[in-house]
Amino acid sequence: MPPSSHHSFDVLIVGSGLAGLSAALHLAATHRVAVITKRNLSDGSSGWAQGGIAAVMGEGDTLASHVQDTLVAGAGLCDPEATRFVVENAPASIRWLQGLGVPFSQEDGQLHLTREGGHSERRIVHVTDATGAAVQHTLMDQVRATPNITLFEHHMLVDLITSAKLGLAGQRCLGLYALNEVTDVVDTFSAPHTILATGGAGKVYLYTTNPDTATGDGIASAWRAGCRVGNMEFIQFHPTCLYHPHVKSFLITEAVRGEGGKLLLPESAGGTRFMPAHDARAELAPRDVVARAIDFEMKKHGLDCVHLDISHQPKAFLLEHFPNIYARCLELGIDMARQPIPVVPAAHYTCGGIVTDLNGRADLSGLYAVGEAAYTGLHGANRLASNSLVECMVYARAAAQDIARAQPAPVPPLPTWDDSRVTDADESVVISHNWDELRRFMWDYVGIVRTNKRLDRAAHRIALLQSEIQAFYAQFRVSRDLLELRNLVLVAELIVRCAQARHESRGLHFSRDWPDLLPQALPTVLQPAAA
Ligand SMILES: Cc1cc2nc3c(=O)[nH]c(=O)nc-3n(C[C@H](O)[C@H](O)[C@H](O)COP(=O)(O)OP(=O)(O)OC[C@H]3O[C@@H](n4cnc5c(N)ncnc54)[C@H](O)[C@@H]3O)c2cc1C
Repeated sequence: MPPSSHHSFDVLIVGSGLAGLSAALHLAATHRVAVITKRNLSDGSSGWAQGGIAAVMGEGDTLASHVQDTLVAGAGLCDPEATRFVVENAPASIRWLQGLGVPFSQEDGQLHLTREGGHSERRIVHVTDATGAAVQHTLMDQVRATPNITLFEHHMLVDLITSAKLGLAGQRCLGLYALNEVTDVVDTFSAPHTILATGGAGKVYLYTTNPDTATGDGIASAWRAGCRVGNMEFIQFHPTCLYHPHVKSFLITEAVRGEGGKLLLPESAGGTRFMPAHDARAELAPRDVVARAIDFEMKKHGLDCVHLDISHQPKAFLLEHFPNIYARCLELGIDMARQPIPVVPAAHYTCGGIVTDLNGRADLSGLYAVGEAAYTGLHGANRLASNSLVECMVYARAAAQDIARAQPAPVPPLPTWDDSRVTDADESVVISHNWDELRRFMWDYVGIVRTNKRLDRAAHRIALLQSEIQAFYAQFRVSRDLLELRNLVLVAELIVRCAQARHESRGLHFSRDWPDLLPQALPTVLQPAAA
């Protein structure tokens, strides 16, 4: 086995989505930056985003209106300061992307703006229906051409290295261990600043729109390192993921409803439109309302899916606005210009995460969290559509500026990862079985509608899994599957603990045992034992 490597940089960035790459580009002029990412540079949610990026760019729209829409969607739990900060900086982020060459859709020489559920104006900047891919590829090209940025693909964060773990004074992050999947060796990275941009944790659920990378690694690592984590009970379920036996995680963007798509029961259940009976805003109601309505109708009628119908729009319109969705559906034998698309809700966005301030700082000195891994306070109890890509960019810039102002003490020499105590795993079936079990009971017990009993059941199973996984981790050499499972089980615990602590139904958290709203809206912040 090759020896373990030591790397030293000014800034370590874990994750190569919009949050990580934006931060890298902001820092590269003045800092030596390492981007550490567990698969290819392009893998992550950012490249999958379809709808677009919310920013006040159109005539007649106002910052106050974008703030207000965000606060309404967040059901009383958004941090007003964080919300204003993001909304005010959103237009500059769009201009930054335009400057880098992102080819946003235009109409009559102006940005074309769409409207999505919960927005009172057309303010979604987009690149047809593949915004994330266009942004991600533009940033990847820039990062590859920037000399001060070193890319470490196929390197997976195992754990952060903190002063406390080394028995040193202070509460500081000094670097991290990462599994080099090419050599199968755990390497050591040291730096005075580390940014976690590891994305969300959708893979904790059986059905998700998220890519395989979304295993909550940054959230779990920060928690193990002694950082607070907040609002993990607020998991957004996207109402409309394509339902097809051969397709995993294909999302049908909200913009389809924005452009007049209607939700219908299948013919077998009457074929009628059902959203107006659930909410006056019908299909344009916020995601949680639509997801719960679909969940309700599916359970009531014993359905596998419902239908999303936009066949009243001409084919040319659909091809212009939704070319990717049109093509993907057609490949599967669904012509959306003639027939409805079968859809189900699926775990989509992790609103909570590592608690950060307006500079993206987490609880350890030198540690930052940006993007979906962070809990900034912007999303409150429910994220407004298209507010997450913009949050990645605004906080990536804020963290980079904070790092540029800092004058950190030097990092002491860090110990090499010790795996002399372990052997290769004897069988990996334990890992795959536990992955399946975890994702299924999280779906059944901690999904769109929760009860005290279901949460208790989930907590019990999580405790059993944790003891098995911990024993496995202590005994055997680490692998990506094992590390991801260890993180997912911890994230599941954090979700359940937050859900158990909330004795009300608010935003995305709906409990049959606590159906009412408490008069005072408070975030759920968990304090790690080590802190
Ligand atoms: C299908 C889909 C559609 C969406 N549409 C929109 C939209 O239209 N508008 C909008 O605003 N938002 C949308 N979102 C949400 C948005 O895409 C994400 O919130 C956002 O891209 C998150 O960016 P990020 O940089 O924080 O994380 P990601 O883009 O997910 O990147 C995380 C990175 O971290 C890496 N990583 C993770 N763990 C480790 C580890 N242990 N070690 C090393 N690297 C690691 C991953 O490989 C990846 O590179 C959508 C999400 C999905 C899934």
